[in-house]
Amino acid sequence: MTAIGVDVGGTSVRAGVVDSHGAILDTARGSTPSGEAELEDVICSVVGSLAARHEVNAVGLAVAGFVANDRRTVMFAPHLAWRAAPVADRIAERLGLPVLLEHDANAAAVAEYHFGALRGARVGLLVAIGTGIGGALLLDGRLFRGAHGVAPELGHLRLVPDGRPCSCGKHGCWERYCSGTALVTTAVDMLAQYRGRSTALAREARDAQALTGRKVAAAARDGDPIARRAMAELARWLGEGLALVADVYDPELIVIAGGVSESSPLFLDAARDHYQSMVTGAGHRPLARIRTAHLGDDAGIVGAATMALDSA
Ligand SMILES: [Zn+2]
Repeated sequence: MTAIGVDVGGTSVRAGVVDSHGAILDTARGSTPSGEAELEDVICSVVGSLAARHEVNAVGLAVAGFVANDRRTVMFAPHLAWRAAPVADRIAERLGLPVLLEHDANAAAVAEYHFGALRGARVGLLVAIGTGIGGALLLDGRLFRGAHGVAPELGHLRLVPDGRPCSCGKHGCWERYCSGTALVTTAVDMLAQYRGRSTALAREARDAQALTGRKVAAAARDGDPIARRAMAELARWLGEGLALVADVYDPELIVIAGGVSESSPLFLDAARDHYQSMVTGAGHRPLARIRTAHLGDDAGIVGAATMALDSA
């Protein structure tokens, strides 16, 4: 049995044929267009090219957005065209295959639970840190979705009253301090504070628009003092946020995923220290282990395909 998993992201649509062991046998990709019909065309074309080469039983779509509890409808996706769109039925009809929708962090958590870093965790939390923060909670291998399918929405927990403005309309959200985007904001703020200090990052940031989280991480790796401070800030906010989340869910294992996790040697130990000092009752309770994800960029594809296979 194989299924096609599709990661529908803000910039690209990536698909893979996945077997029941979580192995990716073949891949295809396209760019994400801005229109709703065009997006579904790209998904059908990418899936169609794979289905022409492989016998597949089902399709799973991992979407960066709110998916309704029945997993047929995308309610809202900030970086995609869909609004209350019955995506699963429309695409199933066009492809002639069963289609399942899943929130991308949920799909990644399922993949990590079956084949990666969350394996065996009774209460396992995945925190995906990229442009923003996505979260997923697994209880004995089952996703906890909340009453309306949107839990756990971690990125917009307000950590800083009257803090940085967020696209969600609030101020001080966790992901405004702990994400690839936040790393750039922090670095730019710090460069303004230390104006005149000529560091590699300062030269890189002459064109502030071109600065990325990846560039800040690379500068920190090269020992740039301001980039290292920005990274220390990210570690602090990661630890503080995880302490808050751990007070609510008391997980045994927390897996850090997403693009920022690739730089984990630069921040994870410090984040653990902050976590340990901020979690309630530290020293008198067992603490969650915190580690990085194993499946990288492929987790959404593998997880969506695995869930589609399960339900096919
Ligand atoms: Zn927000």
